Amino acid sequence: MSRFRFPTGLVGRRDGFLIVLTGFLGLTREQARKVTPAVIEVGGLGVISIQGTAVARAASPGECPRCAVAGWLSVIAPHYERLRASFLPLLDPTTAVPGVHVCELPVGDLWRSGVALLPSIDRTGAVGTGEPISVRAITTIIGQRRIPTGRTETLDPVVRAEGRYRDATSTELAAAQDDVLNHLDSANQYLEELLAEAELVKQTLLTEPDNTAAK
Ligand SMILES: [Zn+2]
Repeated sequence: MSRFRFPTGLVGRRDGFLIVLTGFLGLTREQARKVTPAVIEVGGLGVISIQGTAVARAASPGECPRCAVAGWLSVIAPHYERLRASFLPLLDPTTAVPGVHVCELPVGDLWRSGVALLPSIDRTGAVGTGEPISVRAITTIIGQRRIPTGRTETLDPVVRAEGRYRDATSTELAAAQDDVLNHLDSANQYLEELLAEAELVKQTLLTEPDNTAAK
Protein backbone atom coordinates (compact mmCIF):
# COMPACT_ATOMS: atom_id res chain seq x y z
CA MET A 1 0.00 0.00 0.00
CA SER A 2 1.49 3.28 -1.08
CA ARG A 3 2.24 5.82 1.58
CA PHE A 4 4.21 8.19 -0.57
CA ARG A 5 3.70 10.20 -3.73
CA PHE A 6 0.66 12.26 -4.50
CA PRO A 7 -2.16 11.37 -4.68
CA THR A 8 -1.52 7.62 -4.32
CA GLY A 9 0.21 8.04 -0.96
CA LEU A 10 -2.71 10.10 0.29
CA VAL A 11 -5.17 7.37 -0.72
CA GLY A 12 -2.91 4.69 0.76
CA ARG A 13 -2.77 6.44 4.11
CA ARG A 14 -6.52 6.92 4.23
CA ASP A 15 -7.02 3.23 3.45
CA GLY A 16 -4.46 2.25 6.09
CA PHE A 17 -6.44 4.29 8.62
CA LEU A 18 -9.64 2.60 7.48
CA ILE A 19 -8.11 -0.85 7.91
CA VAL A 20 -7.00 -0.01 11.44
CA LEU A 21 -10.58 1.02 12.24
CA THR A 22 -12.24 -2.05 10.75
CA GLY A 23 -9.54 -4.68 11.05
CA PHE A 24 -7.79 -3.71 14.22
CA LEU A 25 -10.44 -1.94 16.31
CA GLY A 26 -13.21 -4.12 14.95
CA LEU A 27 -15.54 -1.30 13.99
CA THR A 28 -18.25 -2.01 11.46
CA ARG A 29 -18.06 -0.10 8.19
CA GLU A 30 -20.87 2.17 9.38
CA GLN A 31 -19.11 2.81 12.68
CA ALA A 32 -15.85 3.46 10.87
CA ARG A 33 -17.30 6.10 8.58
CA LYS A 34 -18.76 7.90 11.58
CA VAL A 35 -15.45 8.24 13.38
CA THR A 36 -14.89 11.94 13.93
CA PRO A 37 -12.06 13.88 15.54
CA ALA A 38 -14.20 14.09 18.68
CA VAL A 39 -13.70 10.38 19.45
CA ILE A 40 -9.96 10.43 18.84
CA GLU A 41 -7.61 11.29 21.66
CA VAL A 42 -3.97 12.01 21.08
CA GLY A 43 -2.12 11.96 24.36
CA GLY A 44 1.49 12.39 25.28
CA LEU A 45 4.21 9.88 24.47
CA GLY A 46 2.55 8.89 21.23
CA VAL A 47 -0.61 7.52 22.82
CA ILE A 48 -3.61 7.49 20.49
CA SER A 49 -7.02 6.12 21.36
CA ILE A 50 -10.14 5.91 19.24
CA GLN A 51 -13.52 5.65 20.96
CA GLY A 52 -11.70 4.90 24.18
CA THR A 53 -9.66 2.04 22.78
CA ALA A 54 -5.93 2.53 22.69
CA VAL A 55 -4.43 1.91 19.28
CA ALA A 56 -1.62 -0.58 19.74
CA ARG A 57 1.95 0.23 18.95
CA ALA A 58 4.07 -2.36 17.17
CA ALA A 59 7.82 -2.60 17.56
CA SER A 60 8.43 -2.08 13.86
CA PRO A 61 7.16 1.22 12.43
CA GLY A 62 6.09 -0.58 9.26
CA GLU A 63 3.82 -2.84 11.29
CA CYS A 64 2.60 -0.21 13.74
CA PRO A 65 -1.17 0.46 13.74
CA ARG A 66 -0.59 3.65 15.69
CA CYS A 67 1.76 4.83 12.96
CA ALA A 68 -0.96 4.15 10.39
CA VAL A 69 -3.31 6.44 12.32
CA ALA A 70 -0.69 9.13 12.96
CA GLY A 71 0.47 8.99 9.35
CA TRP A 72 -3.04 9.76 8.19
CA LEU A 73 -3.88 12.42 10.78
CA SER A 74 -0.66 14.25 9.99
CA VAL A 75 -1.48 14.58 6.29
CA ILE A 76 -5.24 15.09 6.50
CA ALA A 77 -4.79 17.82 9.07
CA PRO A 78 -3.24 20.50 6.89
CA HIS A 79 -5.75 19.76 4.17
CA TYR A 80 -8.54 21.09 6.30
CA GLU A 81 -6.65 24.30 6.68
CA ARG A 82 -6.34 24.45 2.91
CA LEU A 83 -2.59 24.32 3.16
CA ARG A 84 -2.19 21.61 0.60
CA ALA A 85 1.42 22.45 -0.07
CA SER A 86 2.29 21.81 3.55
CA PHE A 87 1.41 18.14 3.43
CA LEU A 88 2.95 17.39 0.08
CA PRO A 89 6.44 17.18 1.63
CA LEU A 90 5.08 14.49 3.96
CA LEU A 91 4.28 12.40 0.89
CA ASP A 92 7.67 13.01 -0.70
CA PRO A 93 9.47 9.66 -0.99
CA THR A 94 12.83 11.42 -0.83
CA THR A 95 12.07 12.62 2.70
CA ALA A 96 10.95 9.22 3.98
CA VAL A 97 12.93 8.24 7.05
CA PRO A 98 12.83 4.45 7.50
CA GLY A 99 12.80 3.18 11.04
CA VAL A 100 11.12 6.20 12.57
CA HIS A 101 7.78 5.81 14.32
CA VAL A 102 5.64 8.61 12.96
CA CYS A 103 3.33 7.86 15.91
CA GLU A 104 5.99 9.38 18.14
CA LEU A 105 6.04 12.59 16.15
CA PRO A 106 3.55 15.43 16.72
CA VAL A 107 0.48 15.18 14.50
CA GLY A 108 -0.62 18.68 15.38
CA ASP A 109 -4.18 19.73 16.09
CA LEU A 110 -5.38 20.75 12.65
CA TRP A 111 -7.08 17.41 11.99
CA ARG A 112 -9.50 18.21 14.82
CA SER A 113 -11.15 20.80 12.61
CA GLY A 114 -12.07 18.22 10.00
CA VAL A 115 -15.51 16.69 9.78
CA ALA A 116 -14.95 13.49 7.86
CA LEU A 117 -11.87 11.43 8.59
CA LEU A 118 -12.66 9.00 5.77
CA PRO A 119 -13.22 11.49 2.95
CA SER A 120 -13.38 10.79 -0.74
CA ILE A 121 -10.18 11.45 -2.70
CA ASP A 122 -10.45 11.92 -6.43
CA ARG A 123 -7.86 11.20 -9.09
CA THR A 124 -6.31 14.63 -8.75
CA GLY A 125 -5.91 14.17 -5.01
CA ALA A 126 -8.73 16.57 -4.18
CA VAL A 127 -10.26 15.61 -0.84
CA GLY A 128 -13.99 15.81 -0.14
CA THR A 129 -14.52 17.52 3.19
CA GLY A 130 -18.23 17.19 3.82
CA GLU A 131 -19.47 13.63 4.07
CA PRO A 132 -17.38 10.53 4.70
CA ILE A 133 -17.30 7.92 1.98
CA SER A 134 -20.24 5.53 1.89
CA VAL A 135 -20.43 2.07 3.41
CA ARG A 136 -20.48 0.76 -0.13
CA ALA A 137 -17.28 2.64 -0.96
CA ILE A 138 -15.65 1.24 2.18
CA THR A 139 -16.65 -2.25 1.08
CA THR A 140 -15.08 -1.62 -2.31
CA ILE A 141 -11.85 -0.30 -0.82
CA ILE A 142 -11.48 -3.21 1.59
CA GLY A 143 -12.21 -5.60 -1.25
CA GLN A 144 -9.59 -4.02 -3.47
CA ARG A 145 -7.01 -3.94 -0.70
CA ARG A 146 -7.51 -7.66 -0.20
CA ILE A 147 -6.31 -8.37 -3.71
CA PRO A 148 -2.52 -8.63 -3.80
CA THR A 149 -1.18 -6.36 -6.49
CA GLY A 150 1.94 -8.47 -6.86
CA ARG A 151 4.10 -5.42 -6.77
CA THR A 152 5.63 -3.10 -4.26
CA GLU A 153 5.50 0.63 -4.53
CA THR A 154 8.39 1.58 -6.78
CA LEU A 155 10.42 4.60 -5.98
CA ASP A 156 12.54 5.90 -8.81
CA PRO A 157 16.15 6.77 -8.17
CA VAL A 158 16.02 10.12 -6.50
CA VAL A 159 17.44 12.89 -8.62
CA ARG A 160 16.61 16.29 -7.31
CA ALA A 161 18.08 19.72 -7.60
CA GLU A 162 17.54 20.35 -3.92
CA GLY A 163 16.92 18.48 -0.69
CA ARG A 164 18.85 16.12 1.50
CA TYR A 165 20.07 13.93 -1.37
CA ARG A 166 21.36 16.80 -3.48
CA ASP A 167 24.96 15.76 -3.00
CA ALA A 168 24.39 12.04 -2.53
CA THR A 169 26.24 9.55 -4.70
CA SER A 170 24.31 6.99 -6.71
CA THR A 171 25.34 4.34 -4.18
CA GLU A 172 23.92 6.40 -1.35
CA LEU A 173 20.74 6.98 -3.31
CA ALA A 174 20.38 3.27 -3.98
CA ALA A 175 20.89 2.52 -0.28
CA ALA A 176 18.30 5.10 0.69
CA GLN A 177 15.90 3.67 -1.84
CA ASP A 178 16.44 0.15 -0.51
CA ASP A 179 15.69 1.38 2.99
CA VAL A 180 12.42 2.87 1.84
CA LEU A 181 11.46 -0.25 -0.10
CA ASN A 182 12.23 -2.47 2.88
CA HIS A 183 10.09 -0.23 5.00
CA LEU A 184 7.23 -0.47 2.52
CA ASP A 185 7.57 -4.25 2.30
CA SER A 186 7.06 -4.58 6.03
CA ALA A 187 4.15 -2.15 5.82
CA ASN A 188 2.54 -4.30 3.15
CA GLN A 189 3.00 -7.40 5.25
CA TYR A 190 1.43 -5.66 8.21
CA LEU A 191 -1.56 -4.56 6.17
CA GLU A 192 -2.05 -8.08 4.85
CA GLU A 193 -2.21 -9.26 8.45
CA LEU A 194 -4.72 -6.54 9.25
CA LEU A 195 -6.83 -7.59 6.29
CA ALA A 196 -6.80 -11.16 7.56
CA GLU A 197 -8.02 -9.85 10.90
CA ALA A 198 -10.68 -7.82 9.17
CA GLU A 199 -11.90 -10.99 7.51
CA LEU A 200 -12.17 -12.65 10.91
CA VAL A 201 -14.15 -9.69 12.22
CA LYS A 202 -16.42 -9.90 9.22
CA GLN A 203 -17.02 -13.59 9.77
CA THR A 204 -17.78 -12.90 13.43
CA LEU A 205 -20.29 -10.22 12.51
CA LEU A 206 -21.95 -12.50 9.99
CA THR A 207 -22.53 -15.08 12.70
CA GLU A 208 -23.81 -12.52 15.20
CA PRO A 209 -27.07 -11.07 13.83
CA ASP A 210 -27.49 -8.81 16.87
CA ASN A 211 -24.32 -6.95 15.95
CA THR A 212 -25.20 -6.36 12.34
CA ALA A 213 -28.74 -5.36 13.19
CA ALA A 214 -27.36 -2.34 15.05
CA LYS A 215 -25.90 -0.94 11.84
ZN1 LIG B 1 4.40 3.65 15.56
